[in-house]
Amino acid sequence: MTITTTDSRRTPATVARAIKIALGCSTFRASALGALLAISSTAVAIPVSREALSGEGPWVVRVYGTNPQHMTELYNEFDVWGGDSEDAYAVIGVRSRPELNRLMEKGLQVVVDPNATERYRTPLTQGFGSDTIPNFSCYRTVESTFSSAEALVSAQPQLAEIIDIGDSWEKTQDANDGYDLRVLRLTNRDIGGEKPKLFVMSAIHARELTTAELMTRFAERLVNGYGVNADASWILDHHEVHLLLQSNPDGRKQAEAGQFWRKNTNNNYCANTSTRGADLNRNFPWEWGGAASNVPCDTTYQGPSPASEPEVMAVVDYVRSIFPDQRPDDLNSPAPLDSTGVFIDVHSFSQLVLWHTVTRLMRVKRRTKTNSRPWTAVWLSLMGIARSKFWV
Ligand SMILES: [Zn+2]
Repeated sequence: MTITTTDSRRTPATVARAIKIALGCSTFRASALGALLAISSTAVAIPVSREALSGEGPWVVRVYGTNPQHMTELYNEFDVWGGDSEDAYAVIGVRSRPELNRLMEKGLQVVVDPNATERYRTPLTQGFGSDTIPNFSCYRTVESTFSSAEALVSAQPQLAEIIDIGDSWEKTQDANDGYDLRVLRLTNRDIGGEKPKLFVMSAIHARELTTAELMTRFAERLVNGYGVNADASWILDHHEVHLLLQSNPDGRKQAEAGQFWRKNTNNNYCANTSTRGADLNRNFPWEWGGAASNVPCDTTYQGPSPASEPEVMAVVDYVRSIFPDQRPDDLNSPAPLDSTGVFIDVHSFSQLVLWHTVTRLMRVKRRTKTNSRPWTAVWLSLMGIARSKFWV
């Protein structure tokens, strides 16, 4: 169990500024990732009082006295945004009074962070475009993300194409429901030959809203910059960029409707509840069944078997189709030095860069704090599919 450590040097203002710069949105609030502000907050938390806990929430609270066992319980039952391992507290976004009551029943000390709570409650009033998520007007919806990708293909068909790599769970149940899983493939097709490939997937965790937006803007920057920007032109002339912008569209729609949804929506697990589904990030076959839950209602439910979910199987099949199998099967042998291909899974939690080709003993040493990109935790793999055991 590893918890992100509070960085007391980073103020909410500097975090917000960094995000504004990164996303170019004048009204950005990190609340999708309220975690970011909460984790980085330097506000002094005050003890719980009747006044602080009036109303129906939401609140941002710190829960003190946590040990690893507590953290496991809290993480499975609540929306843990981060914490401080030295001071033994967890930062939790609490959405409602019933949820707060459940938290209080744990018998741990709960205090409200008033500044983070105020930010969490403040809605966005304006954004950069239409068809965005209610209260998160910097972020496009699933449909808007797809239409933006289609617009790139229409404008520059020699540079962009969309590849249908499979169906979301809901579409596997009803062809008129759910979504296709769409990879936006970018390269200058006028230049042939074998090119190095980059595969990036985003939004596998439904509530991590910023990641799909980030990658959509990356795609727009590349395509719109072709012939204008030397870097964009070089990347598209001599590489293939494969972007799965919406890796979990079913879950994302729940998040867009206001649910704090993480998993897919597979109703075979914890049926007919708002905590149904499998954590797609825990469903990949590599080291499946490690630091994940086998309890269907838990937020980190791994699914009944490796790659049981159609979204995961689609990614596995697609990545295997574009990347050669270059590394020995055992975990101790490194990939050859001439291995090609980059796989990145973009999350928005933990302030970490996690490298996949590590054993359990090595993992802690390989974690990299991302002060320059506090809004993104990135998993980088040099080939194929891999998953870390960290809480992202
Ligand atoms: Zn995540």
